[in-house]
Amino acid sequence: MRYSWATLIAQSLRGHRGWKPAWADRPPQPHYDIVVVGGGGHGLATAYYLARNHGVARVAVLEKGWIGGGNVGRNTTIIRSNYLMDGNIPFYEWSMKLWEGLEQDLNYNAMVSQRGILNLYHNDAQRDAAVRRGNAMRFHGVDAELLDRDRVRRMAPFLDFDNARFPIMGGLLQPRGGTVRHDAVAWGYARAASALGVDIIQGCEVVGIERDAAGAAIALETTRGRIGAGRIGLAVAGSTSRVAALAGLKLPIESHVLQAFVSEGLKPAIPGVITYGAGHFYVSQSDKGGLVFGGNLDGYNSYAQRGQMPTVEDVCESGMAMMPMLGRARVLRSWGGIMDMSMDGSPIIDATPVDGLFLNAGWCYGGFKATPASGWCFAHLLATGAAHDLASAYRLDRFATGALINEKGEGAQPNLH
Ligand SMILES: Cc1cc2nc3c(=O)[nH]c(=O)nc-3n(C[C@H](O)[C@H](O)[C@H](O)COP(=O)(O)OP(=O)(O)OC[C@H]3O[C@@H](n4cnc5c(N)ncnc54)[C@H](O)[C@@H]3O)c2cc1C
Repeated sequence: MRYSWATLIAQSLRGHRGWKPAWADRPPQPHYDIVVVGGGGHGLATAYYLARNHGVARVAVLEKGWIGGGNVGRNTTIIRSNYLMDGNIPFYEWSMKLWEGLEQDLNYNAMVSQRGILNLYHNDAQRDAAVRRGNAMRFHGVDAELLDRDRVRRMAPFLDFDNARFPIMGGLLQPRGGTVRHDAVAWGYARAASALGVDIIQGCEVVGIERDAAGAAIALETTRGRIGAGRIGLAVAGSTSRVAALAGLKLPIESHVLQAFVSEGLKPAIPGVITYGAGHFYVSQSDKGGLVFGGNLDGYNSYAQRGQMPTVEDVCESGMAMMPMLGRARVLRSWGGIMDMSMDGSPIIDATPVDGLFLNAGWCYGGFKATPASGWCFAHLLATGAAHDLASAYRLDRFATGALINEKGEGAQPNLH
C-alpha cells in the first residue's frame, strides 16, 4: 500500500478500517542468502539496501525483541555531519544526503527536520577547534558557519550569556543538521524492506552461531529454531560483545548506558539542536513541544537499558548552566539505552576473522545519524564481500595497526568518547 494524500482520503472515507500492517509477519525460513541480526535502525537499513541496491532476494532480519525497541527508538534523534576526521566526514555527509531523500525513498514520513545544529564554544581554544572543524567540513563540501556571540544571542536569546561561569563566545552552526523522528526510521525501513521481500522476524533471539568444520559461520541458533545463512551480518549495537562472543570473538568494544530525558510540552522555544561546550549537554524540542535532552554516559559498563540518579543530576546541572530557564520545566521521563563504545569512538563496518560473519558496530552514542549510510555500506559489504569506499576506514584491524579515527582525541577510554 502506497502512502499518499489519495490513500489518506480514501481511508478516511472508509473509517480508517482498510490500513494494512506496515510490514509482513512471516515465519522464519530454514535458509537465507543473508541474515542480519538486530532489528534496529542499522540492521533494517542494511536489509533494505541489500534488497534495493543489490537485489539480494532472500534476506531476513532477526530481532530478539520488537522493531524499534532498542537504541533506534531511544535516542535523542539528532542528525548532523559536522565531523573532523577524513575517515568520518564523507561517510556522515553521505548519511545526511540519504536523510534528505529518505522520506521519498521509503514513502514514509520520518519527520526529517533540518533546523540546524549549533555547537557552542566558550574559550579561545574551543573557538580554534570550531574553526578547524568548520574548515575541514567546508573542504569536504559540508555546510558550516562560525557564529559570533551576537549571532548566537539573536538565535537563542534564552542561553545564559550574562551570568555564566563559562561565558558563551560563539558557536559552530551546521544549518543542515537537525532531528528525525527515530522510531519512524525503524518503521519506515522495516516497511520498505518488507515490501521488497525481506523477512522481518521479531521475537527471535540469536543464542548461538553454528560453524562448519573449517570454522565458517553457516547458521544461527535462535529461540525460533535453526536458521541457515550464506552470510551473517551482526548489527546488534549494545549487545555486540555478547553476540560476537557466540562465535568466539572478543572485540574492542565496551557497553555503556546513556540516558535521555524529555520535559513537558512547551511552546516552540528552541530553534534547532544546541550543544553546550563547557559540559556535556544537548537539547532540541520535539514537535509535541517537549524538550528532548541528554548528556554524558553513566560511566560504568552495563547491559541494562536504564541509568542512575547521579547522571540525571549531572545532565540537569549542565542544562541549567547553559539555559537557566530549563529549571522551570518539569521532566516527564528519562530512559536509557546500551551504547557499543569502541576504543577510538568510531564505528566498525568490516568482515571478522570468522568466515561468513560480518560486523557493524562501535556506534557509540552517535549511531542514529549514521543509520542510512551504515545500512548502505554494510549492505555493500555483505553483498559483495568488499568494503564500500565510504566505510573503508572502519576496519576492525585498525586497533592492531594503529590507523585509529580518534575524532575526540580521547585515547582508548571508551567512556570518554
Ligand atoms: C539515550 C540515547 C541517545 C542517543 N542520541 C543519539 C543522537 O541524538 N544522535 C545519534 O546519532 N545517535 C544517538 N544515539 C545512538 C544511537 O541511538 C545508536 O548508536 C544506534 O541507534 C545504534 O544502532 P541501532 O539502531 O541498530 O541499534 P538498536 O536499535 O539497539 O538495534 C540493535 C538491535 O539488536 C537486537 N539484538 C540484540 N541482541 C540480539 C540477539 N541476540 N538476537 C537478535 N537481536 C538482538 C536488539 O534487541 C536491538 O533491537 C543515542 C542513543 C541513546 C541510547
